[in-house]
Amino acid sequence: MNTEIYLGLGGNLGDPPATFQQALKKIGHFAKVTKVSKLYKSKPYGFADQPVFYNAAAQLASELSPLDLLAQLQEVEKQLGKKVVRENGPRVIDLDLLVYADEVIDLPELTLPHPGTLDRDFVLKPLADLNPLLTHPAWNGQSLQSAMDQLKECFLIEVAEIIKI
Ligand code: AMP
Repeated sequence: MNTEIYLGLGGNLGDPPATFQQALKKIGHFAKVTKVSKLYKSKPYGFADQPVFYNAAAQLASELSPLDLLAQLQEVEKQLGKKVVRENGPRVIDLDLLVYADEVIDLPELTLPHPGTLDRDFVLKPLADLNPLLTHPAWNGQSLQSAMDQLKECFLIEVAEIIKI
């Protein structure tokens, strides 16, 4: 059982807090959701003319391989009505596999650790809620806090609420 799996949740259409809760419930059918971060609001990344985003992160435990887990997460996105019109554009939900233990994967369909993990405060902050000391062999010793200190632009607006699981 892999217990060091970290998932990023994002979305800005419909009712993201409710959608995140539904997603975590569905994820509970194929993985154990061991911890959930606070829920944050953030300015849209990419292009500004769209609703505010919600972001959170969850720690999972699973026996599924990274690719099988990604396939299950994509199925959940589909069930919840995800339709991507443009990159970084509005969406009901985005489930990103951020870290899967020490795995380093570079495939067209799966990059691990997720390439945006250390570059965005709306990913770093929820992850730090789950495990402030999280590190990864691909991060060359960089901590979540040092990555946060180096960010040039901040997107986080506020903590929205606590997600109940
Ligand atoms: P988006 O909907 O913009 O988040 O992009 C989803 C696409 O990113 C899918 O085609 C995935 O196969 C791909 N992808 C690559 N690495 C990851 C990852 N670590 N987590 C989630 N999706 C990923």
